[in-house]
Amino acid sequence: MDGSIEARVDHEVDTWLRWLPRWRPGTHRGRSRLCRQCFGSPIMATAGLATDVPHAVQHALAMRMKALIDAAVDEYTALNLPLLSRELRRNDERRRSTTYRPTEGLDLEYRGLDLDPLPTDDSPYLFTFGELAEATDDDEPFPEDTEPLRPLPPTPLSTEEKAALRVELRLADDFADALGQRICVRLGEQRERIRAGIAAHVEPQVQALLADLDSALDSPLWPR
Ligand SMILES: [Zn+2]
Repeated sequence: MDGSIEARVDHEVDTWLRWLPRWRPGTHRGRSRLCRQCFGSPIMATAGLATDVPHAVQHALAMRMKALIDAAVDEYTALNLPLLSRELRRNDERRRSTTYRPTEGLDLEYRGLDLDPLPTDDSPYLFTFGELAEATDDDEPFPEDTEPLRPLPPTPLSTEEKAALRVELRLADDFADALGQRICVRLGEQRERIRAGIAAHVEPQVQALLADLDSALDSPLWPR
């Protein structure tokens, strides 16, 4: 990634502001649990988005900031924390080697058949086994002439390695914290732009929705 963290924050705020006019009040069912990314987030608070803003609007900016932090921490880890890098890579390899492949391991009777029953109009599927099978076929990570990666057995760490890993984990945490603080400072400086975007594109839609609701409640059809 290029540029200072401040420049990256500005860029993400720009992108979010360009997205904002496309936001529409959701018609889907609300979340039943509080979003861990947004609720109580100091980033949302400094951006001025902690209260009176629809969750989807908050969430879009929160996820942009999270992606920014994740990428910067990954970059820092790869450059400075060799032991943690190695463990993360091993973990990733183990995870990849256990990817669920719905077409494998089926009894003979079920091989080659459609993986999913037909959906009905009123209840479409959230995901299908067919899509999962396509996805796992697509992400085949090995060129044809190389040995496929075998799942690595978890390697026990020595006491020294464990201690060194703990130090690296703390450094990664400290880096992420410091980054979060810089992001908060920068978002605080962008607060006016963020507020103006909300006032221009979100507030009118929320007001219209409330007005609609009001007139629906006043409807002569509504039992009093
Ligand atoms: Zn959220």
